[in-house]
Amino acid sequence: MDQIERLVESQRDYFLRGETLTYSFRKEQLKKLKSILKKYENSVYQALKADLNKSRHEALTTEVGFLYTEIDFALKNLKDWMKPEKADVPITHKGTKNYILSEPYGVSFVISPWNYPLQLAIAPAIGAIAAGNTVILKPSELTPTTSSLLSEMIGETFDNNYFAVVEGGKDVSEHLLKQKFDYIFFTGSTAVGKIIMREASTHLTPVTLELGGKSPAIVDKDADIDLAAKRIVWGKFTNAGQTCVAPDYLYVHKDIKQKLFKAIKKYIKSFYGKRPLKNEGYVRIINENHFNRLQAFLTEGKIVHGGNYSKNKLAIEPTILDKISWEDPIMQEEIFGPLLPIFTFSDLDAVISKIKQLDKPLALYYFGEKLTAQQKIIQGISFGGGCINDTLYHLANPYLPFGGVGSSGIGRYHGKYSFETFSHKKSVLKQTTKFDMPFRYPGGKVAEALV
Ligand code: NAD
Repeated sequence: MDQIERLVESQRDYFLRGETLTYSFRKEQLKKLKSILKKYENSVYQALKADLNKSRHEALTTEVGFLYTEIDFALKNLKDWMKPEKADVPITHKGTKNYILSEPYGVSFVISPWNYPLQLAIAPAIGAIAAGNTVILKPSELTPTTSSLLSEMIGETFDNNYFAVVEGGKDVSEHLLKQKFDYIFFTGSTAVGKIIMREASTHLTPVTLELGGKSPAIVDKDADIDLAAKRIVWGKFTNAGQTCVAPDYLYVHKDIKQKLFKAIKKYIKSFYGKRPLKNEGYVRIINENHFNRLQAFLTEGKIVHGGNYSKNKLAIEPTILDKISWEDPIMQEEIFGPLLPIFTFSDLDAVISKIKQLDKPLALYYFGEKLTAQQKIIQGISFGGGCINDTLYHLANPYLPFGGVGSSGIGRYHGKYSFETFSHKKSVLKQTTKFDMPFRYPGGKVAEALV
C-alpha cells in the first residue's frame, strides 16, 4: 500500500471511531483552525505576496477575512445546524415521529485552485469539519508558497488521520482520485471538473464542483454610471481579473458608453495609479502560460485603455477592449485576467437572448434602476448567483448559497450551505408500538383508512 492509500485508510479508521460526531469535537477543530490562521496570518500575507503579488489589503479582504467570518459563522450556528430536524406527519403515518439527521459522509477530499489559494482551500474544509468529516486537502501546485504553508499550518495543528494536506500537481490529484472517498469537493476549471466527476463515478462518490465560465456585466441606460464603473473596476481587476466570479465581459447601453468608459478609466487610475505596472500591490498573472494566453488577446479588437504589460513581472495593466466580436478567441474561453471586452447594446432583450444561448454563467451583474428590467434579467437568465448594481458582493454573504449551474458547477456552499453540502440527510421514522394501522396489509381497507 502506498502513502496515499494508507492516508485514506487511516482517515477512514479515524472517522469510523466516531470522534468527529460530537458538537464539542467539531467546535474544538474550528477553533483550532481559526487560531492557526491567526498565528500564521503574517506568513499567509507573505506567501500570497510571493505567489501572486497580492497586497496585504487584498489578501485580508478576499482571503483571510473571509475565512474568519466563515469560521465565526459556523461556530455561532453549528449547534443549531446539528439538531435533528422534525418532519411533518401525514395522516397515513399517524402515531409516528419523523425527523431528519445530518450525518457526515466520512472521508472528504478537497481539491483547490491557485487564484485564491488560501480561501478556496480552507473554506470548503470549514464545511467538512463542521459537518463531522475528515479532510484530505490537495491545494494547487501553481501557488507553491501558500500550499506549503498550508501543509505546515495544518500539519502542526491537526492529526494527519483527521485533516491532512497532500501537496502536488495533476499526478498526485489523479492518484488521490483513484481512492474511495465519501465526498469530493472540487474548485477549478470546467474541463478538470468533468474529469473529477468521471473519476468520482467509479465509487459513486457525491461531488460538489465549483467551476468557472464567462460571467457578464450589463450596464443599462438608467444606471448610476459612476457607481457602476467603480464596482465593475473593483470586481474585474481585484486579483488582476483572476477571480471565478469576475465580470468576464461587459455589455453597455449605447447612450451611456462614453460616459461609462470615462468613469471606468477614472477608477482604474484611482485604484491602481497612472502606472499600474509600477504599483507594488497590483496582482500578477499566475504563470508564463497564462501570461502568454492573455497577451495574445491584446491583439484583438481595439485597446481603449491600458494594454501595457511586463513579461518580467508577469503583469498586465487593467485593459479595456472595444470592437471585439463574438468570434474572437477572447470570447471563446473564460478570460481570467485583467482584460475587459466591451459590447454595446440598444435592446436589452437581444442581450438576454444572446446570453441564454451561451453556457450558464457562474455570475451575472446587472446595473440599472428599473425594477421591470432587473426582473427580466434575474428571471430570464439562468446563472449561479449575482448582483443587481454590484459585483462579487453576493459571494461574501454567508446567508447566500454560492455555486454554479450547468457548466459553471454543481452544488453550493458558504455558511449553512457548506454544512449541508458535507452532510447526508438521513430520514428516520420512529413507529409507535401502541397501535398498528391495518390498511397497508393485505386485506386492509385502504380507502376507508385514507379518508
Ligand atoms: P484547474 O482545474 O486547472 O486546477 C484545479 C485543481 O485541480 C488544482 O489543484 C490542480 O492540481 C487539480 N488538477 C488539475 N488537473 C487535474 C486532473 N487532470 N485531475 C485531477 N486534478 C487535477 O483550475 P485552476 O487553473 O487552478 O483554477 C482556475 C479555474 O478555476 C477557473 O476556471 C476558475 O473560474 C475556476 N474557479 C472557480 C471557482 C468557484 O468557486 N466556482 C473559484 C476559483 C476558481
